This record gives sequence, structure tokens and C-alpha cells, in this order.
Amino acid sequence: MNAVEFKKHGKALIDFLSDYIENIETRNVLPSVEPGFLSKFIKSECSEKPEPFEDIIKDFKSNFMDGITHEHHPHYNAYFSSGLSYPGTLGELVCAGLSVAVFNWINCPAGTELENIVLDWYAKAMGLSEDFISTSSVGGGVLQNSASECILISMIVARSKAIKELKGTSDVHESSFLQNLVAYGSKHANCALEKAAKVSLTKIRMIDVDDNGKINVDLLKEAIVNDLKAGLTPYYVMATLGTTGTTAFDNVFEIGRFCKNIPSIWFHIDGAYGLNAFILPELRKYGKGMEMADSLNVNACKMLLVNFDSSAMWVKNLKYLDNALGIKPVYLTHQHQNTNGVIDYRNYGISLGRRLRALKLWFVFRSYGLTGLRSHVRNIFNLAKKFEALVRKDNRFEVVNEVNLGLVNFRLRCSDVKTKELLAEITRSRKLFMVPSEINGKFNIRYCVIAERMEERHIQEAWNLIQQTATTILYTPCSNI
Ligand SMILES: *Cc1c(COP(=O)(O)O)cnc(C)c1O
Repeated sequence: MNAVEFKKHGKALIDFLSDYIENIETRNVLPSVEPGFLSKFIKSECSEKPEPFEDIIKDFKSNFMDGITHEHHPHYNAYFSSGLSYPGTLGELVCAGLSVAVFNWINCPAGTELENIVLDWYAKAMGLSEDFISTSSVGGGVLQNSASECILISMIVARSKAIKELKGTSDVHESSFLQNLVAYGSKHANCALEKAAKVSLTKIRMIDVDDNGKINVDLLKEAIVNDLKAGLTPYYVMATLGTTGTTAFDNVFEIGRFCKNIPSIWFHIDGAYGLNAFILPELRKYGKGMEMADSLNVNACKMLLVNFDSSAMWVKNLKYLDNALGIKPVYLTHQHQNTNGVIDYRNYGISLGRRLRALKLWFVFRSYGLTGLRSHVRNIFNLAKKFEALVRKDNRFEVVNEVNLGLVNFRLRCSDVKTKELLAEITRSRKLFMVPSEINGKFNIRYCVIAERMEERHIQEAWNLIQQTATTILYTPCSNI
């Protein structure tokens, strides 16, 4: 492809993306394809001969796009979906077009410095304490590949710190301390926590939650005290601000206060979705005590209109990150003379090569301004409240979470079975996509408001479909169990 063709196809694809978003409502949110559908259209071998780009685009627009679940459709109310905005897409475009790797300052000075600056912006926008802001502390932020990776990295850092302290000057191998280490989190923590413990080869205790889905802090304390008595080393506690299932906020103040007295514990907060809500100062009360965390993470793509992916983490003392993950081979260290204050992001994560993700955060934050982002967040939260009000007006249904953010958990009062049937029937229609969750042993449906273009009419349309479907499946009256 030459430059002329690149410009031609590039402009056509921008037009395509814009038309796609503007007309997304003409499609069903869920595609009507069966597993394996794509192999009917795409050959099992790559062609030997170059193919005209026009042909590739043609197949992309038809066959490939037929198999897309439309995450930015106003009736995609399933997962905390990927963000999307035009400035964010342009940020991704430039990132792809420059194709640079941000691992050493010298390999990408602007990318390195921008990452540091926008993560300070982001931390300040959410009201994080000065301890996490690079210009005023020994802490700071870094972009990782996912929230799961942020959690894993925080655990690796905690593990490395704990083992170092246990080992002291002895020459016993690090691995012999693994069996001593215990991590803790709630049963409603994201499954990424379990995965991190699997990779870290340490025990994990999943603590029960209360009726609102918040970790039971008394049980957490009891488990830690018992482990200490048994000679084990509690080394990692993770709290969640905005659980995936029901957006519950763990009591980080109580947890933080307790953890402070046990020096072996690293306290991490997973706010992959919920931490973004603190861009609204009036919601910061739900994060009271979060300044006590050693590290925290959030996905800008889950609420703030930044395109997928954009997982940020902040650490109070970056030295621990460097201790656990820093690598200093000759070919990576001898390129810049003045190393004072220079960040080499490779030392703060698992990957060496890292994408220039900061660009899209910069584009989005500046294009919307904090005011614009706040009004988007307020809009989606208000719409969730409106949806909640609709559910509460129909006494066949109940709302089972505290609706503080953009998520409403609801169910048919009568039974799990009927609620499951309701969800299955709606999913079959392909017009509305929601996923289930469970609280207090009961099955419920999550209705999540995320997309920038969500309006009240979408809430009403979704609710009409839910009500009609409920009427058809409740052909027998419910007995109140
Ligand atoms: C989405 C989510 C995660 C996992 O996010 P990834 O970036 O997909 O790994 C972790 N924790 C919470 C609370 C989440 O909502």
C-alpha cells in the first residue's frame, strides 16, 4: 500500500467507523451467528498472493462485522463495557500510526512523560491523595494491560516485599516462603484476584460478604488474626470499590485502619469500574480511607469514554514496584546521561514493549474537559436511577443492589428459575444484552448504563421489552417463596 492508497482507505475507514456509531441502533445488539461461522467465509490458509485492499475491506464490512456484539449500542447493558469516543478513537489511530514502544525514556521521551503527566491528571481528577501523585511524592501511576494485570502486579510486588522481609539475610531460597503467605479478598471481588493468587502460588482466603455485597470486615480481621496465630504471614489484602456484580463499595476505611497495624500486609484497592465515579466529588464519601492503600487500579475505559484498553494503577512508593519488577541489562540502561527523575516504565510492569496508551487519555481528557466527563458520568448515573424507578413501580420485580452508580441489579420476586428464563428469552431476541450476577444466593440480572449516547428513551425501550417478556413467561402466577 502506498501513501495515496493509505490516505484513501484511511479516510474511508474513518467514514465507516463514524457511520457505524451514528447508525448503531439500526442493528440488533447481539449478532445472529453460531460458533464457527467465520470459517465459512474465511479460508483456512492465508493467500500467497497479495490481495487488493478493497476486497479485504469488503469482507471486513460484511462477514466480519456480522459477528460483532455491539458494545456501544444503547441496548448493550451487560458488562462494564469498553469506552468509546471519537477523540479516544483518534488517540488509538495515532498510537497505531506512530507504532512506538514506551519502555525506556529514550525510546519514547514524549510518551513516557505524557504517561506520567496524564496519570497525575487522572489521580487528581478522582481526588486521590497527594501520595499517589508523582510531582508531590515518591508514588505515581503507570498504565498496564488490564485491571487483572494491575491486580496481579500489586500482588507480585506485595509478595516480593513480604518475602524479602521474611528472608532477611538468610540464603534460603525465596520460594520456601511461599507457603507462609496468605492473601485476602472478598467473595465478590473480581475473579482476577483468584487468578493473581493462582499465578503467585500463594494461599487466598475469599471472605464472605454482607447483605449488600460488601466484604464482612469482622470476618476479614478474624481470618488475619487466626493466620497470624498459626504462624502464617498475611501479606496482601484487596478491597473493591464498585464490585463487578453489584457495584458494592467495601469499607476501605475500616480495612485500611486494620491493615496499617500489620506491617507485612500490602493493601490494594481494585476500583476498575467504581473508582472513576470519584470524578464526582459528592461520591468520594464511598472511598473514605482510600489514602491508606499501598496501591490502586482503575480502568478509564469502563466509565470515562476512553477507548478500550486503559488500565491505570498508582503505587504509593514506586520503589517497591521497581524492586519486584525492575530489570537493568546493559542494552536498556546506558542510553541516557541524565537519569535523574527519568522513568523507564519497563520497570513498573511485566511487558518490556508497551503501547503509547497515554495519548488517547490525553485526547479524551482534553476534548471533554473534566466538566464534560463529569456530565457524562452524571448522565449515566441518572439514567440508572430512572431505570431503577421503573423496576420499582412493577411489583413483580425487585431491585437488589444499592443503585449508586450506573448499575441496577433486579430480579423477578417469584423465583430464580423465572428470572433465568426471563434473561434467556431476552437474550434470544438479540435486542437487549444483559448478564446475570448473584447476591445472597439469589440470581439477578445486571442492567448497566455505559454508552455515551444513552438517553431516557433507551431505558424505556429496554424496560418495555423486559416487562413484555416477563408477562409472557409468567403465564402461571408466582407463588411467593
Ligand atoms: C472489569 C473488572 C476487572 C477486570 O478488568 P480487566 O481490565 O478486564 O482485567 C477487575 N475488577 C473489577 C472490579 C472489574 O469491574
